[in-house]
Amino acid sequence: MAEVRQFDIAIVGAGIAGAALAVALSGKGLSIALIESQPLNTAALPTGCSLQDFDPRVSALTPRSRAFLQQLGAWQSIVDYRHCAYHHMTVWDAEGTGDIEFDCAEVKLPELGHIVENRVIIRALLAKVEAASDISLLQPVALRTCARLNASRMRLELEDGGALEVDLLVAADGALSRVRTMMAFESREWNYGHHAIVATVEVARSHENTAWQRFLPTGPLALLPLPSEDGRHYCSIVWSVQEHLIDDLLALEEQPFRAALESAIEGRIGTVIDITDRFAFPLRQRHAVDYVQPGVALVADAAHTIHPLAGQGINLGLQDIAVLAEEILAGHARGVSPGQLQLLRRYQRRRKGDNLLMMTAMDSFKRLFEQQSLPVRWLRNAGMRIVGQIPPLKQQLLRHAMGLE
Ligand SMILES: Cc1cc2nc3c(=O)[nH]c(=O)nc-3n(C[C@H](O)[C@H](O)[C@H](O)COP(=O)(O)OP(=O)(O)OC[C@H]3O[C@@H](n4cnc5c(N)ncnc54)[C@H](O)[C@@H]3O)c2cc1C
Repeated sequence: MAEVRQFDIAIVGAGIAGAALAVALSGKGLSIALIESQPLNTAALPTGCSLQDFDPRVSALTPRSRAFLQQLGAWQSIVDYRHCAYHHMTVWDAEGTGDIEFDCAEVKLPELGHIVENRVIIRALLAKVEAASDISLLQPVALRTCARLNASRMRLELEDGGALEVDLLVAADGALSRVRTMMAFESREWNYGHHAIVATVEVARSHENTAWQRFLPTGPLALLPLPSEDGRHYCSIVWSVQEHLIDDLLALEEQPFRAALESAIEGRIGTVIDITDRFAFPLRQRHAVDYVQPGVALVADAAHTIHPLAGQGINLGLQDIAVLAEEILAGHARGVSPGQLQLLRRYQRRRKGDNLLMMTAMDSFKRLFEQQSLPVRWLRNAGMRIVGQIPPLKQQLLRHAMGLE
């Protein structure tokens, strides 16, 4: 029979959240297993900056997320490769005259955030994982089963026949978390009725380091700035549309799709010159009722998934990681097991309210901008103008979205 490997903590999923947690816990006397079902992509990252070189999945990282990645020692290699700081954000309503502009000068910061390709963030974190002697990276192998062995230990079985026993099992295995299902965590979820189309585009005019977002009645469209090179300008698009429109939009040939996109963004950054393949994701909101059980914790998308309209998903996830790591390390310093329920409940208490607040706000925005009735349109346009004219209110909104409050 194969040996059962013993660890303090097993993290399932080496996406941004799982890899960040492993790095945050490393070097403090804990033994950590990081389990990932997909083979790691070890090919060199593209050195060019042409349309096809960008990862279609990007994240708008808040200053708080950047500071956390800095603390983990992963930020410098992101900067050394590539990222795009954005200084300005323009948000406007397709149905009226309401718009609102945010600028980093309003919060006295050099930028509002950074757009970084997901694979670049993961690569930077995995470089730290590979250099750490207390993290065993098990990949490519999927978790097959997990169950409580006794009051203080969890047992995990892997698809390759391997087995592990740990004090704490952390589910960082994403929105469709197997751990969440296998450990019978209850979650509240509903369909947003939206799909998101993701692609990279080349545009004629400079994006001016601005994140652009237009609220259409069919769903929000975001253009996020990517690094420019040799006078060529690129953006990542996240176009959320109502379910009944997705097939027609995806079926459009490239040229009509570019034209539809140009019209949806009102030509604000000129002609859409070129576009990559488009990917579509169904959007669901999910929130686990509890994030923890004795010996088990859910983090990031395994605990909550949110509409991408404000680009908050992984930012909330990284805040979960920072808090969970802080509680585990504080407990470890006092000789408390990382799987102790009381310790894990402190993590849940510190994160659930924040996550719920952001999820509720995004859901309300989505519903508000779907309304076509004249009074609601008038109110939301007036609302945007009023917020734009009251600097303290605007600053508070901005600081909250940037994770500064
Ligand atoms: C269209 C779109 C745009 C977005 N834009 C933004 C944005 O601008 N800013 C932002 O903050 N967020 C954004 N998000 C959200 C963000 O992408 C997610 O919050 C983030 O990727 C979640 O990271 P994670 O590590 O929790 O999960 P994932 O990235 O899903 O990683 C989970 C990992 O677990 C592994 N895994 C799964 N099952 C198993 C198993 N059984 N055994 C072993 N391994 C397993 C998977 O292979 C994967 O590597 C966006 C989301 C979408 C859909």
